[in-house]
Amino acid sequence: MSKDFSKVVIAIDGPAGAGKSTVSKALARELELSYLDTGAMYRSLALKASRAELAPSDEVGVAELMESTTIEFGHGDPQPVFLDGEEVTALIRTPEISEFASAISAHSAVRRALVARQKLLVEGGGVILEGRDATTVIAPAADLKIFLTASLEERAKRRRLEFVQRGVEGNFESVRQEIQNRDHRDITREDSPLKVADDAVIVESAGIPVDEVVTKIKSLLDSLVS
Ligand code: C5P
Repeated sequence: MSKDFSKVVIAIDGPAGAGKSTVSKALARELELSYLDTGAMYRSLALKASRAELAPSDEVGVAELMESTTIEFGHGDPQPVFLDGEEVTALIRTPEISEFASAISAHSAVRRALVARQKLLVEGGGVILEGRDATTVIAPAADLKIFLTASLEERAKRRRLEFVQRGVEGNFESVRQEIQNRDHRDITREDSPLKVADDAVIVESAGIPVDEVVTKIKSLLDSLVS
């Protein structure tokens, strides 16, 4: 009999551009699980805050904004994201919103508001979630915890390609610099810094085709779930 993965929780952590989204989406499709892009939630809140002309440094203002905000996901690739009912899928992927999201994600009050929502979305199981604190804070009890990683050069190359495919400007040096800045902020922030959970499996993604990474994670899952 084939194994029942319908209630599993798989958490995928790692730095910007390590391939978390690509790998998580492919896994979600193959295992028929839902996919929770936690970064899209920070990005959506960042978009709303920037439209409201809040400064990224306004911790209380941004956190309070979340109280009257709904963020929902549709089905498809790219996965549609709805902010208060408006589709914002492409609007949240610009370099400006990336910066804004990174800045607001350093605030504890903002993280608390988003983590509370994320925990609710993971509660029932049957989900693959990805994000910088997926394994350490949102789902520390996940069935499988993966820390996906690759070198800065490799991650910058991929991020730039994503921008080009979406028709967004971005030269290699500025993308590399942006990722380096975000890495620094993610690693050094006081609340929930990016780190490898004790029982996470480190998976190197540089130069490895997505389907091989997916196969590796599936075999890890196989060995865990009976
Ligand atoms: O993953 P993505 O690049 O879409 O995330 C946008 C920003 O949100 C990142 O810069 C990161 O700092 C933040 N983030 C976070 N915790 C998460 C997901 C994203 O701090 N779980």
